[in-house]
Amino acid sequence: MSGDISPPLALLAELTHRCPLRCPYCSNPLELERAGAELDQASWQRVLSEAAALGVLQVHFSGGEPLVRRDLASLVRHAGSVGLYSNLITSGVLLDRARLAELVEAGLEHVQLSFQDAESAGADRVAGLAGAHDKKLSVAALVREAGLPLTVNAVMHRQNLERLPEMIDLALRLGAGRLEVAHVQYYGWALANRRALLPTEAQLERATAIVAEARLRLKGVLTIDYVVPDYYARRPKACMGGWGRQFLNISPAGKVLPCHAAESLPGFEFPSVRSTSLAEIWYRSDAFSRFRGTDWMPEPCHSCDKREIDWGGCRCQAFALTGDAARTDPACALAPDRALLDRLREADAAAPAGDFVYRQIGGAPAAASGPILAPSP
Ligand code: SF4
Ligand code: SF4
Repeated sequence: MSGDISPPLALLAELTHRCPLRCPYCSNPLELERAGAELDQASWQRVLSEAAALGVLQVHFSGGEPLVRRDLASLVRHAGSVGLYSNLITSGVLLDRARLAELVEAGLEHVQLSFQDAESAGADRVAGLAGAHDKKLSVAALVREAGLPLTVNAVMHRQNLERLPEMIDLALRLGAGRLEVAHVQYYGWALANRRALLPTEAQLERATAIVAEARLRLKGVLTIDYVVPDYYARRPKACMGGWGRQFLNISPAGKVLPCHAAESLPGFEFPSVRSTSLAEIWYRSDAFSRFRGTDWMPEPCHSCDKREIDWGGCRCQAFALTGDAARTDPACALAPDRALLDRLREADAAAPAGDFVYRQIGGAPAAASGPILAPSP
């Protein structure tokens, strides 16, 4: 603890933006880092030690696809040696028995495996890779055989929501202890694909009822986390548990961010672990201080009794929709810009889904980059 700022709980280590898949809702930025810009093994090990000293308890190895990094097992081993719980967030397509054994031996404690759909044709179309779904099924079996707890991440949208019951059955069949039913949130690549992904209200209501029923039926067997799309919410979510309150995100090149989408915000110099300590960044950088707490909030947040519950919502969404990161998240029904979000949602949900803009090096075509609309006065 320093002043009234608590230490972070978790570190999202984005080891690379490289990935064999091309999901159109990928949370990586439109400008993907190339391999040559990535932190090397020694730098990641130093950063993991600094994170543990700062008070971090868990490290989530993510990407891109973290298995692209040949030094992943060394990083897992180092995380364990400094007392960090390690979780692998993976698409699974690069995992085989030998690689998994290496990671288990290094001390890996949990695997989160993403699925694009409950059946292979739809899943492979979203992933942009033939055979990806079948490979994931075999990887899930390997993870369970190795005795590791498994979480299935199911990213849901208008093109797969009708198969939500099958997705829940799939998680059960695979022996997952937890299923995250996460509706797409519209930043980065997902914003560029919003029309192709945003569900209708009727789809969302059905999905919410299915999750409620499954939670009751599967109590004690499968824990189901449910993340609804902000575009249909009445109040925003507490993005990352609040800016600079619980999480650190480190990009492949070593930039330290309060959330994985924060690089989309203009006017920030996000500090790098190459030149600044994590403690300095967490406690003293402008990047982590600017939207921490409640002093920065405009009305109606500033005098709202929910301000220490949702922390004013998501800064990246406020910027994506209004062009101003300091405005109230339009996902809040009380936000002055809520009408913007309602108009976008209604227009997108009524339009044909259209084609995906797949994730690729070089960014999305300008026409697909999603609207930034002028905020209300
Ligand atoms: S969302 Fe898809 S493309 Fe993006 S890192 Fe994950 S698996 Fe790869
Ligand atoms: S006005 Fe601000 S603090 Fe209140 S519920 Fe909406 S976003 Fe949250």
